[in-house]
Amino acid sequence: MSVGLPPQTPTECPVCHAHRASFAFSKQSYDLFRCPDCGFLFVHPYPDAATITAFYETAYRGASADFYPKSSSRRRRTVWKSLRFLRYVRHKDVLDLGCGGGFMVEAFNRLGARASGIDISQNSIAYARQHVPRSTFYCEDLTTFRKRNLTFDFVFSSEVLEHVPGPDEFMATLAAITRPNGYVYISAPDVGHHRVPKDLPSWADICPPEHLQFFNHHNLCLIFERYGFVMHKNMKNRTPAHSVLFRRKSN
Ligand SMILES: [Zn+2]
Repeated sequence: MSVGLPPQTPTECPVCHAHRASFAFSKQSYDLFRCPDCGFLFVHPYPDAATITAFYETAYRGASADFYPKSSSRRRRTVWKSLRFLRYVRHKDVLDLGCGGGFMVEAFNRLGARASGIDISQNSIAYARQHVPRSTFYCEDLTTFRKRNLTFDFVFSSEVLEHVPGPDEFMATLAAITRPNGYVYISAPDVGHHRVPKDLPSWADICPPEHLQFFNHHNLCLIFERYGFVMHKNMKNRTPAHSVLFRRKSN
């Protein structure tokens, strides 16, 4: 939290680990720091688990009663979106990490996948279990999930990475659950995209404590490489968002 003068002390970058990240700006009373070496932008300090949990239980739309009001149009869009992953999911073991109401799991299964989902939101998982009853859904955090020792050919994770307080737990989970030569698909806000506002603090995607960290293409590839992945395909977006496939190296 910033009151008065901005914090002056540089801090360690969670991506490249140089100790040169410095204060960039404040938004919604959170301070954002940027690393001059790799360009990573992140809330510093990351809020603690209790703050994040309280936020999702009270303020976040997923916790409200009118949950998934437009599920039929959402389902149609999801079916359409799933088609571009056909070759990665057909006859494969697939996980949607951050699956919400299970729409993508349902769509992947229609394409011949053996898909399951994990989400931290109890409301989302209750909805998913009701609407996609034949699939398996896990409602737990990533550390707990990792202990199941499950592995997958394809992990799909859309709009999760920006929500987690630091990249390491998320990345360690991907490294543990993705089989050698398997694929990970990531979508997340892209702070390096040419359509991000020049006045960065005005960018709507910067909304702590909901979104806590912002990658550009360079530092996204950097952290995936550190965890044993190589960039496979950059599905470029007209909106300021990453849409990237990574492949796990064969050890
Ligand atoms: Zn850095």
